Amino acid sequence: LEPAYQFMIRVVAPGGVVTPTQWLDLDGLAQKYGNHTMRITTRQAFQMHGILKWNLKKTIKGINDTLMTTLAACGDVNRNVMSNPNPYQSEIHAEVYEWAQRVSDHLAPRTPAYHEIWLDGEKVVDSLDNVEEVEPIYGPVYLPRKFKIGMAVPPSNDVDVYSQDLGFIAIIENGKLAGFNITAGGGMGMTHGDTATYPQLGRIIGFCRPEQLIDVAEKTVTIQRDYGNRSVRKNARFKYTIDRHGIEWFISELHNRLGWELEEARPFHFEHNGDRYGWVKGSNGKWNLTLFIQSGRIHDEGDYQLMTGLREIAKIHTGDFRLTPNQNLVIANVSGQKKRKVVELIAQYGLTDGAHHSALRRSSLSCVALPTCGLAMAEAERYLPSLLDKLEPILDQAGLRDDEIVIRMTGCPNGCARPALGEISFIGKSAGKYNMYMGAGFVGDRLNKLYRENIGEQEILEILEPIIHRYAKEREQAEHFGDFVIRTGYVKAVTSGLNFHD
Ligand code: SF4
Repeated sequence: LEPAYQFMIRVVAPGGVVTPTQWLDLDGLAQKYGNHTMRITTRQAFQMHGILKWNLKKTIKGINDTLMTTLAACGDVNRNVMSNPNPYQSEIHAEVYEWAQRVSDHLAPRTPAYHEIWLDGEKVVDSLDNVEEVEPIYGPVYLPRKFKIGMAVPPSNDVDVYSQDLGFIAIIENGKLAGFNITAGGGMGMTHGDTATYPQLGRIIGFCRPEQLIDVAEKTVTIQRDYGNRSVRKNARFKYTIDRHGIEWFISELHNRLGWELEEARPFHFEHNGDRYGWVKGSNGKWNLTLFIQSGRIHDEGDYQLMTGLREIAKIHTGDFRLTPNQNLVIANVSGQKKRKVVELIAQYGLTDGAHHSALRRSSLSCVALPTCGLAMAEAERYLPSLLDKLEPILDQAGLRDDEIVIRMTGCPNGCARPALGEISFIGKSAGKYNMYMGAGFVGDRLNKLYRENIGEQEILEILEPIIHRYAKEREQAEHFGDFVIRTGYVKAVTSGLNFHD
């Protein structure tokens, strides 16, 4: 007899693209081995919860049978490569997605151990002597910490490109993909009470052409492999490597390893970092529907039969599904003929594009936290909806129901829901208590700042109510909440992670 240990499995989906067959297969695995739910993560991947230890191998085999994988969804390697799932500008999107897929394939660990342990069981490596040959990019000891890459297509910064270790911003000239501006050294995680740890934004270091992108990604990863801090794990992310040596050092080292130099960064413009909901017609004449999914949790609850409804849609859908970086879902490439049937199923199962919710709720993100994350100090996914229930009447009174304010909550400072980029954010400290931050940039280009420590719901509401009313009355033309709280002196603007704790 052994305890019924249960596990979370994370499934990689570069750019968040999933076919209807894969959707049905994952749904089937969640029903058979999981807790009858699936969760869309903030990195466009899936999490499956409640997998009992003796079902782990069967579940991972089922995932691989549907041509998906859990390889590199965790660990000190490059993680799921994010890219913009929004279909307006679809040809550019398709091209950027192709690059995301190529980078992901190129940086995937080559180790045969994954197959040996989880799939066919055949022993592929007899001794550790030849491990280095197996991993030409990572070498025998892999990276000092995880590594994250995201690719944004302006005007949307939905991947929060500045939060990535390495970011690529698509530069579109004359309707074509000219290349990418590159950002380096972003990251969200920190540790409460340890000012040597901090969130940081990626800095723009130059421009490369599409065909140079993989070279840039590979050489950057090798720099982190060789210079990242392997003694202090809390200081091992790429952002600390760059901050320790300086951004100019990194650019010079990158140029050395590339054997050529990046061009000067080119102009671009971001308008938001959230998702645009509802139906949009793509340039290929097909339709795309972005559904709102609170905290990315796909499940059935009362009249809201999200899991069943999506299963029924997957059975008739001939396009694909796209997981967004904001935990929502695009039913993509729906033909004009199929659209009517999809609309019927949406209505039948109570699915929603979020139009009846406040813009605050539609701009919310939360990590999974309790009860399944071992690092959680407080609730996030299970608590944020009820906090929003209490904030929405305040927004209604202030006339701000339809004004987007980016709000984020995590159960610990590890930063999985990118809390340092919320105009309002809460990071768990202990059961029911949060540190509250304000003042991030609406397009994800400025970090927020600690405003109150260790507060519970009552204080959160008492603090936010007057600020929300004042924002409604005193904001300037098109001024976002994050800018307002800085202009009116609630918090100071944070210009770099290095002064996040000042
Ligand atoms: Fe990530 Fe922390 Fe949330 Fe767990 S509690 S999901 S580690 S942010």
